[in-house]
Amino acid sequence: MATETRPLILVTGATGYIAGHCIRELLEHGYRVRGTVRSLADPKKTEHLRRIASQLGGSLELVEADLTSDRGWREAVAGCTYVQHVASPFPPEVPRDEMELIGPAVGGAKRVLQACADSGTVKRVVMTSSVAAVAFGHKDGNGAVRTEADWSVPENCDAYPKSKTLAERAAWDFVAALPPARRFELAVINPGFVLGPLLNADQGTSGELVRKLMVRDMPACPEIGFAPVDVRDVAIAHRLAMEVPQAAGNRYICAGEHLWVQDMAKVLAVEFNPRGYRVPTGRLPYWLMWIFARFDKAVRLALTFVGRKELVSSAKAQRELGWTMRPVRESIIDTARTMIEQGVVPAR
Ligand code: NDP
Repeated sequence: MATETRPLILVTGATGYIAGHCIRELLEHGYRVRGTVRSLADPKKTEHLRRIASQLGGSLELVEADLTSDRGWREAVAGCTYVQHVASPFPPEVPRDEMELIGPAVGGAKRVLQACADSGTVKRVVMTSSVAAVAFGHKDGNGAVRTEADWSVPENCDAYPKSKTLAERAAWDFVAALPPARRFELAVINPGFVLGPLLNADQGTSGELVRKLMVRDMPACPEIGFAPVDVRDVAIAHRLAMEVPQAAGNRYICAGEHLWVQDMAKVLAVEFNPRGYRVPTGRLPYWLMWIFARFDKAVRLALTFVGRKELVSSAKAQRELGWTMRPVRESIIDTARTMIEQGVVPAR
């Protein structure tokens, strides 16, 4: 039997929206992939991954490991050349106790990195951070375009951006403190608001907004916006950050120009309203949003972002990784189209 020479890549949080696309991207490029999941007990959570691997004739193995426990991480990284650390809690609402997010995000990153340091095989880790670790909590410079030189201010942040900022900081500190014999490289991807095709019937946190618009769960569009990026382009960025030598020691923002929810709704309305959907395109006044927020925790979270523009630059990723973004219209339409295909949004 021929010796297996294709590098083995560990992708953490394989059940997740972004990780699924990372796995597909790696398999398409001939890598062998091992994915971690919290539990293998429910085969439904991973059947889309097995289907993709089989369609591509790729090598995919799934193992159990939880960010909150040491168990399984050493075995998970064994023999891997690269690790894409994608797993981190990303709930749609602010938890009662911020440690529900910060604990697994920071503790989990350290566990994964410690296993890499101990492995003797891992050359580079690519970690999924977020623009939430770059552009949040700044009291000054409103309207400034944020770059990789910026860090969110955790003291001024909700649990999620705080968890992403502290986890990314912990990762950089961890690798900086490694003795030479255990050293490996770190690169970080900071995606914006991720849109694009669903691989299974779990719309995830970022898809929830598109779902709400498609089923008219909101009567109008809140005046909030974000810097969008396609999940397929995020997966490509992870692969490039793994392959491009210059990426070592760098963080890369991957996100496009600011997009208001209302502009996203208009794209959906043009495409789907002629097919029987009733995507709202009006603007939700602040006072009405405030009333909705009393009953909906996700709206309560969104209140803090009203009127705020997410201005970030992906110039560094474009320059150093050769990374490009597909048009945002394509990402918006593909999100909704696959939601209909997966039954997340009823077919009309
Ligand atoms: P998902 O919720 O789809 O994926 C999160 C993944 O993390 C899931 O596989 C989940 O496992 C796993 N996870 C959560 N808690 C634990 C834990 N304690 N132990 C092990 N695994 C755990 O979210 P996304 O795919 O959207 O997000 C993936 C990463 O990308 C996160 O780090 C997120 O912060 C980041 N990100 C996401 C953006 C977006 O807009 N979607 C934007 C910027 C960054 P399980 O299925 O068992 O719950």
